[in-house]
Amino acid sequence: MATGKINVSVENIFPLIKKFLYSDHEIFLRELISNATDATLKLKHLASIGEAKVEYGNPIIEVKVDKEGKKLHIIDQGIGMTEEEVKKYINEVAFSGAEEFLDKYKDAEKDAGIIGHFGLGFYSSFMVADKVEIITKSYKDEPAVDWACDGSPEFSLKKGKREERGTEIILHIAEDSTEFLEDNRISELLRKYNKFMPIPIKFGTRTETLPKPEDAKEDDPAPTQEVDNFVNNPDPAWTKQPTDLEDKDYKEFYRELYPMQFEEPLFHIHLNVDYPFNLTGILYFPKLTNDLNIQKDRIQLYQNQVFVTDNVEGIVPEFLTMLRGVIDSPDIPLNVSRSYLQADGSVKKISSYISRKVADKLNSLFKNDREEFEKKWNDIKIVIEYGMLSEDKFFEKAEKFALYPTVDGNYYTFEELQEKVKANQTDKDEKLILLYASNREEQHSYIEAAKAKGYEVLLLDSPIISHLMQKLETSKEKLSFARVDADHLDNLIKKEDTQISKLSDEEKEKLKTNLEEVLEDKKYTVQLEAMDSGASPFIITEPEFMRRMKEMQQTGGGGMFGMGNMPEMYNLIVNTNHELVGEILNTKTAKKRERLINQSIDLARLSKGLLKGEELTNFIKRSYEMVK
Ligand code: ADP
Repeated sequence: MATGKINVSVENIFPLIKKFLYSDHEIFLRELISNATDATLKLKHLASIGEAKVEYGNPIIEVKVDKEGKKLHIIDQGIGMTEEEVKKYINEVAFSGAEEFLDKYKDAEKDAGIIGHFGLGFYSSFMVADKVEIITKSYKDEPAVDWACDGSPEFSLKKGKREERGTEIILHIAEDSTEFLEDNRISELLRKYNKFMPIPIKFGTRTETLPKPEDAKEDDPAPTQEVDNFVNNPDPAWTKQPTDLEDKDYKEFYRELYPMQFEEPLFHIHLNVDYPFNLTGILYFPKLTNDLNIQKDRIQLYQNQVFVTDNVEGIVPEFLTMLRGVIDSPDIPLNVSRSYLQADGSVKKISSYISRKVADKLNSLFKNDREEFEKKWNDIKIVIEYGMLSEDKFFEKAEKFALYPTVDGNYYTFEELQEKVKANQTDKDEKLILLYASNREEQHSYIEAAKAKGYEVLLLDSPIISHLMQKLETSKEKLSFARVDADHLDNLIKKEDTQISKLSDEEKEKLKTNLEEVLEDKKYTVQLEAMDSGASPFIITEPEFMRRMKEMQQTGGGGMFGMGNMPEMYNLIVNTNHELVGEILNTKTAKKRERLINQSIDLARLSKGLLKGEELTNFIKRSYEMVK
């Protein structure tokens, strides 16, 4: 038997390993199973090129918990190691890897941004074990080897008795890590990290119910049998060719990824590149609600089928982090901080590739089945609008398929919309005015009024839509969005209605003074308009700009901070041709006139949704008095 001292400058590296990886002890299992997988795949490769004269068969990896003996076993049927190889790969190479890792990540605690801890490999087992054994036999015709190390840099190495090819790693679980002797905990880890690893992983057995025999009595229990319990799907959908998959395969895989999701995805995008970087994956568009905070099921990042993280920030464009699915790439540097990741050239390429693929997919869905696309629009618009806002390249592509729905359920592209309304909805400067509502219920009377004039009213109700309108207005000439209750409407009304006012200038002056006396409230600017006598007598509008700025503040607009609180400002538009307005003007007593004005303005405020609380209560009381 040989003993030796691992050649390392840090005398006591193990406490350090423990300390630096404090929060992430559980990854040891992923590391050991990755090694077992690599060893098995290496054998497969050597067998396939005739280098290893062995029967490859159907190798598996087995994980076993020995609770009593306080041991955890990871057993593979891979290439194994000769004595020379143990010396080289475990004593020298692996150790220098561990040392290098520690050197690099002395500040690991400060940099919480490290994803995974690839590179530490085998030695991460010392995070949870106070003694580790390796029992291994190479596929080559050489004796087996037993290696053991108790956590100090001293190890023992001797000839072993193992007869089958492969490696068994035995962890003597430390006192403070006994959680890893619990079946449930191990199951959880296997599910988290190894669900899609390429070699079948066995963990215990499970009871399988068999069909009842023909002659069984009604209340005979169904027969059962114990079968090996395999935890992973070695051939997940993303590793296959899109041509070999049907729609139902994608849906099945979605359920496999998110067993708690009952809603089906809207559609998927299969990613598959090998130049200039390697990336495969499947992204799904889920049905999204307006609540962006509920985001538990996220895109998962894998490296060669090993789970790394579900925090893909920096790798996937931000607007697509709302999607679900997996991406798998060996080219994403894993043990680096996020800020580094975002600056990394190849990561940037990956991000823009994903963005382009998503745009192309959306475009083909739009072109191939517009009706379906329109049906899905409501569920996908947030992602698209967010993308248009945050990425110019995506904006350019999305212009072709981004839709603008109307309150009547028509869907137009921007170009179509422009064609449709340009004859009727331009102001005196030839500027196109696109009317929209953000809430069909709240803005009902305004929508109706606009429709009565023959205007097309869009229904734009995403939380970030005001930002996008802002962007569209600055990127296109002569375009302005105006909500149906905004004062831009005045421009259109004025152009449309060449009505002659029934009131003389003198009467107008008097009316204005009357109104302002009663109004007192400085928020309102009185504006007299000669409109159709059938239009509302009083309409309250709000400057589009002010309202939109307020909305953008609320949804966190870039550059909008520090503008302070926007004051509330409204216009009170008075239709001088309306009968009621004439009546107010001709009322003899000041008291009655005041009452009429108050009641009318309250009605206008009610219609705009501005009458609330005490004012609303008073209004209702007063109205009851009047109808009594
Ligand atoms: P890495 O896997 O990153 O190379 P490790 O420290 O995990 O680093 O392992 C060091 C080396 O030990 C591996 O490259 C491999 O040659 C060898 N090794 C580890 N585990 C096994 C195993 N189960 N079977 C065969 N060889 C192994």
